[in-house]
Amino acid sequence: MINVTVWNEFYHENHDENIRALYPRGIHGCIAEMLAEEPGVFNVTIATLQDPDQGLPDSVLNNTDVLVWWGHLMHGHVSDELTAKIRNRVYRDGMGFVALHSSHLSKPFTSIVGTDGSLQWGDNQLEIVWNVLPAHPIAEGIPQYFILESEEMYGEPFNIPQPDELVFMSWFKHGNVFRSGCCFYRGVGKVFYFQPGHETERSYYNPHVRKIIRNAVRWAAPHKMMPGLPAPTEYIKPIV
Ligand code: ZN
Repeated sequence: MINVTVWNEFYHENHDENIRALYPRGIHGCIAEMLAEEPGVFNVTIATLQDPDQGLPDSVLNNTDVLVWWGHLMHGHVSDELTAKIRNRVYRDGMGFVALHSSHLSKPFTSIVGTDGSLQWGDNQLEIVWNVLPAHPIAEGIPQYFILESEEMYGEPFNIPQPDELVFMSWFKHGNVFRSGCCFYRGVGKVFYFQPGHETERSYYNPHVRKIIRNAVRWAAPHKMMPGLPAPTEYIKPIV
């Protein structure tokens, strides 16, 4: 089982009744439900900004294989100390990090990938998500393209490092394009950014979006270390 922690700032659902109606168990609850659609794969823990230690005490963070993050208005409330711990878990321990939608500006995401994550944005409109790397594990079971009838427009330039793998590109009805599914390798860890998921839209109920997030969590999980290898000094000999 992959130990997944789903973190949500959990602000909109508590301050807007329309968003609460759309996500009655919170966006984190909706993400937990989509992970449960593949039984026996994911062991899910919920964490929110309002919980003790901002939802991620060491006992939780250090037992997390993949951290899924949804934030928007409360990025600045996440402590620098927690941000550094998350980055170190990715870089040094191989924890996977999946940043969703407005988490492009979150402190963990920008700290891990190394740029400020800024982008263009605009009105909600029809989006076509194109699968541009069908052989990638995150694209497994995803068609050549799929349509989201209404989603917040995110546009280029998207201030990220050049992705190590670009899995999805999106086109928006008013003409913008956006790198909507991006993989990054950082230290010994893996990072995936995925754009759909504005809080007033229904994208997290789309079956393709739900499968992509499940695929991303599975892909981002750290590999288990092979047991039983001799210590490096036993087989690294000077060449003479
Ligand atoms: Zn949004």
